[in-house]
Amino acid sequence: MENSLAHIQAWKNRRRSQKKPFKKFLGSLSKRKNKDLDQKAAELNEKAFTKIDCLDCANCCTSIPPIVTRSDVRRLCKATGIKESEFKKQYLRQDEDDDWVMNTTPCPFLQEDNKCSVYEDRPKACRKYPHTDADEFRNNLDLHAGNAHYCPAVFHILEEMIKLGS
Ligand code: SF4
Ligand code: SF4
Repeated sequence: MENSLAHIQAWKNRRRSQKKPFKKFLGSLSKRKNKDLDQKAAELNEKAFTKIDCLDCANCCTSIPPIVTRSDVRRLCKATGIKESEFKKQYLRQDEDDDWVMNTTPCPFLQEDNKCSVYEDRPKACRKYPHTDADEFRNNLDLHAGNAHYCPAVFHILEEMIKLGS
């Protein structure tokens, strides 16, 4: 993908400076109804991922341990052929909210080429991240300013939304 690495580098250089403006923008967004928001989010989400290739990034898999639900565990155990008790011992820990999460960052299933070795069976939290597609965007307004620090696509989407004056 052309310029993907350049977009990621630009995000790394600028992400700190935008935290406050993003919070302010998202705060104003949550206070009013915006009928077009789902459509705008879907369009900007698609556009962001034509500019940024996750395989050039993998920052979410490197820095945020995903929640792993019971059904995720069952699916992953089936895929890896590991017993549930062994899987928990080897890959999971309980976080401060008592949720089960991957026990290391980077994620134990992240490969050197930035691919996920359990991609087809990855946790639901990984599928949903970064929560920017259509109604996912609207339903997670409180997460985006924080996520823009970890995900260049979220950063890009918020900058574009501010430019459009959503
Ligand atoms: S399970 Fe796969 S997609 Fe999820 S954090 Fe680990 S490497 Fe990334
Ligand atoms: S942080 Fe965002 S851009 Fe990077 S790999 Fe994750 S979802 Fe893709």
